Amino acid sequence: MKKLIAVLALGASIATVAAPETMIVQASTINDTAKQNSFSGVTYAEQVLAQEGIKYNDFSAANPINYRNGKPEGVVIHETATPNATARNECIYFNREWMNIYSYVHAFVDKTGVIQMTSPDYGVWGAGPVANNRFVQVELCEENNLADFAKGVNNDAIYVAQILHRYNLEPDNAVHDGKGTIWSHHAVSTFLGGTDHTDPDGYFAKWGYSMDDFFDLVKYYYDQGTPADNAPVDNDTVTPPAPATPAKKPAVLPKPVATKVLIHNALVYDENGVATDLPTKKAGTKLTIYGNQTIKKRKYLQIGVNQYVVASNVEGKLRPLSHNAYLYDGKGKRVGTNKLYRGNYVRTYGGRVKIKGRKYYPIDVNQFVKVGNFK
Ligand SMILES: [Zn+2]
Repeated sequence: MKKLIAVLALGASIATVAAPETMIVQASTINDTAKQNSFSGVTYAEQVLAQEGIKYNDFSAANPINYRNGKPEGVVIHETATPNATARNECIYFNREWMNIYSYVHAFVDKTGVIQMTSPDYGVWGAGPVANNRFVQVELCEENNLADFAKGVNNDAIYVAQILHRYNLEPDNAVHDGKGTIWSHHAVSTFLGGTDHTDPDGYFAKWGYSMDDFFDLVKYYYDQGTPADNAPVDNDTVTPPAPATPAKKPAVLPKPVATKVLIHNALVYDENGVATDLPTKKAGTKLTIYGNQTIKKRKYLQIGVNQYVVASNVEGKLRPLSHNAYLYDGKGKRVGTNKLYRGNYVRTYGGRVKIKGRKYYPIDVNQFVKVGNFK
């Protein structure tokens, strides 16, 4: 909203330079262009968020604001003052941040349609303490060309006309006398106080448009009656679609395929290859194997529901001996006098282990060969 001052200044300079006739032609052209578009319809925040895998933070459920007369008295028209932010962007941002920024509105509107954030049966935090328990509040998003601006105001005007019908309100322009059903945020600042914003006047002026023009467009649609198609309903009557991200596989184990002895201590990983908090499986443990799976290019064996160990701790890998080798136990003590001879392949399991400062490969439970014998 800080950019408003600059936008306002720009709007004012256009108004003084351009001939009044030009402005009138321009404004009527925008409403005529707007009317050539059909309504893009209403979607609901919980639907939009579910598609993104984001939880809906229901403002009205957390924070019910009752209207002072039991129902809305009109609608406040806002403009986001955030270039290039779509209704979808604003929906995600306000859903995440309303409890930090103390700001929330009933709907965001752009050229692609309306996203209703919460039921208009309750108030929101849109235009200060005087207006918040009186009005439905609707934010128009910024567009970058006149054709898209016309689509945006068209969706805005149809949604506002539907809201008026829903609450048995008649269109009445409040921006000049502080009385009526169609308010700008600027008019709230001027006549009611509790806020000092001047939107959407600056943004409208940028396109040679005004709240009076917008009021005419709302009245045009109001007089056509309530289009039943795409009329807004309450957010809590909407069923969000299934999230785009696939649901988790049911926690059912496949049939076991083998029982194998773990030769090297093994961390337990989850299905994403992330180490779990489960205790390390100790070498010598018998594991029931439910199949194998490659996770991030590494082979794992499934040992339980969402539990995996790195396969090489069980299956091992053949390595050629470059030297004759003795066998050692887990304390680094030589086991017997048997030798493994150079040139032979020996199966080693998992990574190297350190025993008393020396590096070994496990070749069986509690049997180790020095790493140097494989070089
Ligand atoms: Zn505003």
